Amino acid sequence: MRLGSRFASDFPELSISWQADVPPNPQLLVLNESLADELGLDPAQLRSPAGIGLLTGTLLPADAVPVAQCYAGHQFGGYSPRLGDGRALLLGELSDAAGDTRDLHLKGSGPTPFSRGGDGFAVVGPMLREFIVSEAMHALGIPTTRSLAVVQTGRTVYREDPEKGALLVRVASSHLRVGSFQYARATNDLDLLKRLADHAIARHYPNAASAENPYLELFNQVISVQATLIAQWMLVGFVHGVMNTDNMTISGESIDYGPCAFIDDFNPAAVFSSIDHGGRYKFGNQPVVAEWNLARFAESLLPLFADSQDAAVEHAQDALGKFTPQYSAAWSAGMRKKLGLAEADASSAADIATELFEILKVERADYTSLFRNLADAARGNTVPVTVQLAGSEAFADWLTRWRALDPDAAAMNRVNPLYIPRNHIVEEALAAATAGDMHPVSELLELVTAPYAKQPGKDRFAQAAPDNFGPYRTFCGT
Ligand code: AMP
Ligand code: MG
Ligand code: MG
Repeated sequence: MRLGSRFASDFPELSISWQADVPPNPQLLVLNESLADELGLDPAQLRSPAGIGLLTGTLLPADAVPVAQCYAGHQFGGYSPRLGDGRALLLGELSDAAGDTRDLHLKGSGPTPFSRGGDGFAVVGPMLREFIVSEAMHALGIPTTRSLAVVQTGRTVYREDPEKGALLVRVASSHLRVGSFQYARATNDLDLLKRLADHAIARHYPNAASAENPYLELFNQVISVQATLIAQWMLVGFVHGVMNTDNMTISGESIDYGPCAFIDDFNPAAVFSSIDHGGRYKFGNQPVVAEWNLARFAESLLPLFADSQDAAVEHAQDALGKFTPQYSAAWSAGMRKKLGLAEADASSAADIATELFEILKVERADYTSLFRNLADAARGNTVPVTVQLAGSEAFADWLTRWRALDPDAAAMNRVNPLYIPRNHIVEEALAAATAGDMHPVSELLELVTAPYAKQPGKDRFAQAAPDNFGPYRTFCGT
């Protein structure tokens, strides 16, 4: 296997060569065999001692150069000039079976020069959580970093209580973030900034290289992929929870599944993260925050847009102005499909969707099951959805008008998931895994990675949390 070190060698200013911690007693908890295949890696080999060495970053090909990457970022709106991989390492770049470059990366691999007050480690529950949620996102057709494996390290990691240490092996089309550009810009080294932008173009947007203004085109393309990505989050009810600029990729992949969660009841104000007191990253704010982050990206790229500052700012503002229309178009097209309506009905679909969301803001129905219940209603069985929204006259009226548009139930069930990583089920599975039983995680993974097809005997995985589940809280850096 070849592990490239292009980032490390091209960007010494953004990399510190570093070695992964040697785990005292590594045990593979979960391996993503289909992703291994996609990467051209042999699952049986990965399970062998040499494979575990690769997965823990402790037995790498001779020419590999693992590095901690350096980046800055706005965290909850406040700028941190030097964040970087405090508990992660880029092991190197792989060429996957399709010939595309993918980063092989560890999270929870021990302290680095960027660890600040943190210990550099991670624990079993949160790493399995990232594995489950990222693979669910992938199955939902949402661009995301992927999870190749979780390895329990045998190390005790201290959080509120002693916990079992683990690391996640993450795969991404790159780990370039808005924060990488903020860091490069803050060095005042324009050559570095330009090389980083050229690297991003070559890696993610090669056609931008031939544009009249390649760096502005890079910005335009990142705006487009982020507008689409955030629309997909909103359509599926995903709350990222920590949309700091260091957690927004240049590739358009979702990254960093820390305090994220799927909404249960529809609620634009949904916040799960224990530290998001002001609701900056609440469900309904995500498009606005994405645009704010993209403005920080623009500020970093400004010197590359034009020679004069005024011209550069004008370019940036024109480009940023395209975020909201692209976001809205992507959301509307997605919602039209969720409601089973044909493209020819786009304008009535937009109206009927708006009306539905006005009702949901008041009624707070379980968001995911609602669309499957609507598909039943499209087939003539209005019982489930009527039970779900019992007592809402506005909904009963809406249902009649929507059904008159002749929605396609089969098409709806191809885009509306039955199985998502529901918070109460994820917590149950993680508790079992932490106690040594991986079976519930495997069962959940099977469902969320094939989220549309109904499986016999698995009804409870598709149902809303019981009332006694209570408010759900999630955590960063665990
Ligand atoms: P995040 O909120 O996950 O994006 O993390 C923000 C920053 O905190 C990054 O620089 C991480 O590397 C760092 N960080 C998070 N958890 C830890 C930890 N347990 N030890 C060291 N650094 C950490
Ligand atoms: Mg992060
Ligand atoms: Mg994190």
